[in-house]
Amino acid sequence: MHASDSSYTTSHYDAIIVGAGFSGIYALHKLRSLGFSVALLEAASAPGGTWFWNRYPGARCDIQSMVYSYSFDDKLQQDWHWSERYARQPEILKYVNHVVNRFDLERNMQFNTRIERAHFVEEDSSWLLTADNATQYRARFCIFATGCLSVPRMPVINRIDTFSGDVYHTGAWPHDTVDFTDQKVAVIGTGSSGIQSIPMIAKQAKHLTVFQRTPNFSTPAWQSPLTANEEKQWKEDYSNIREMARHSESGDIYEETPHSVFNYSAQEQQAELERRWGQGAFNLQAAFTDLVTDEKANKIAAEFVHNKIRQRVDDPEIAELLCPRNHPFGTKRLCVDTDYYETFNRDNVTLIDMSKAPISSITAQGLNHNNVEYQFDAIVFATGFDAMTGALTKIDIRGTDDQSLADKWASGPVSYLGLSISGFPNLFTITGPGSPSVLTNMMVAIEQHVDWIVDCLCHLRESNKSVIEASPEAESTWVKQVEAVAQTTLYPQANSWYVGANIPGKPRVFMPYVGGMATYRDICDDVADMGYRGFNLN
Ligand code: FAD
Ligand code: NAP
Repeated sequence: MHASDSSYTTSHYDAIIVGAGFSGIYALHKLRSLGFSVALLEAASAPGGTWFWNRYPGARCDIQSMVYSYSFDDKLQQDWHWSERYARQPEILKYVNHVVNRFDLERNMQFNTRIERAHFVEEDSSWLLTADNATQYRARFCIFATGCLSVPRMPVINRIDTFSGDVYHTGAWPHDTVDFTDQKVAVIGTGSSGIQSIPMIAKQAKHLTVFQRTPNFSTPAWQSPLTANEEKQWKEDYSNIREMARHSESGDIYEETPHSVFNYSAQEQQAELERRWGQGAFNLQAAFTDLVTDEKANKIAAEFVHNKIRQRVDDPEIAELLCPRNHPFGTKRLCVDTDYYETFNRDNVTLIDMSKAPISSITAQGLNHNNVEYQFDAIVFATGFDAMTGALTKIDIRGTDDQSLADKWASGPVSYLGLSISGFPNLFTITGPGSPSVLTNMMVAIEQHVDWIVDCLCHLRESNKSVIEASPEAESTWVKQVEAVAQTTLYPQANSWYVGANIPGKPRVFMPYVGGMATYRDICDDVADMGYRGFNLN
């Protein structure tokens, strides 16, 4: 691409950020406050990213809000009041808007602007971005904050477009109120989005039929209002808590342990699992060091959850259908629920097992499964996302020698640290594949990436350099490291979206870095301290 190819009016910036979720918002704030000229471009009509799009009933965070929130500004975290342990989507979106207003960020944001092309202009080492609304933007640096879970995926099912009732996808939920009262509703999919929405839809619908291909492990959130006293305790110790989260393996603040499950008697193991179950959410996964690395250890936790499911579900046959058996415990993101399993005790809820036969077709009235015709007023697809790579490969991104990113990633994503890609100078990805991202409290991962990228841009500015590019050798070494550490765990055994298994034809590569947030942070800091080791600077 040459600068002269452009027939559009083009605005020039130091940096362009694509995406107005938590990543893009923080990147904009930080770069602007350090004197960079910057614009943020967003496909949606407003900021929020995940929390703008995922408005389905029951949507809320799975990490406690006191830590699933920004830590970069103490006054912000002291001022903001979360009403519940795990905030609902409307409250998180309200928080996003508060941050945008508080730091006066909207004036640098352009909405309804979907970037379709991003081409590196070799003549002056800049990026030229073209949007669907025929606007163009030029910048020295291009930062993709396009999200790991931002491309909703409809499944491949015969005649999927023929249904005459209402069709929803959890990841692109309408802004108007959806009312299922007196309706027969189907939910397809039992990942985190399904597990959160099913109890809520069941309470409203006349009848809910849940189509489950794979049961998932879910732990209770033990959701409750955040009391004034709890809030006070959090806030008094906020800086320590944040520091602990930053230097933990998960970015969260649950108790970490140095002990293997085999250090304990069977009775002690059960007591510890029970204690962790009582704490809720991801605490269970952190009960012992070897739950996701040792098959025997894993089976102990899996069996513990199976027994919990059996206690929560009245019908023993339904309970067995809900017990996950085809993947190890914790190797898909653990779901965090409120009354999920109990929902199957309701008279107006039916569970259909699709593990042996897929839906054969969608019909005008509903769907056909296993030679049974079902009729519905509405179908909800809780079928997930083209995760981690989808938002980037959808864009025509071209680096040096006109190389396309989609081509480079045809056999799976490669990057240096999940931050930078060889052959794509001055381009950064926030929580890109090859970084801990989706395995962590993503707020911590996001802040770490933004801080690192902004420090890097400041370093270039101070040293009068204008181009940075990952070397092919550093990239290749990192990709091998990501793969090697994944192979020390049970994660690659699961047909999860972490390995692209949910998208037919997507190469099977374990995409996130499973070595932990703390280790990863040290590696990134070390790279910067060593003069950006593995990068070429000009
Ligand atoms: P996003 O929030 O996904 O924002 C990306 C933005 O980029 C979107 O607004 C999108 O429209 C825009 N965009 C993409 N492509 C383009 C383009 N070509 N042009 C212009 N704009 C574009 N993580 C946790 O740690 N804890 C949780 O509790 C949690 N809950 C979640 C619940 C749901 C329902 C989902 C789907 C994810 C959840 N996650 C959670 C992960 C969540 O995605 C991250 O925590 C975080 O919100 C990601 O922020 P982001 O800014 O990186 O990406
Ligand atoms: P998901 O985990 O990918 O789950 C998708 C579900 O749809 C799975 O049960 C899947 O079954 C099913 N499915 C997909 N295609 C199907 C088909 N053709 N036929 C039948 N079933 C099909 O997606 P998600 O639930 O949206 O969650 C994605 C991620 O977003 C989560 O892992 C989490 O990181 C994040 N999230 C977090 C929360 C939260 O608690 N805060 C809420 C929602 C999302 P298979 O398993 O058999 O493929």
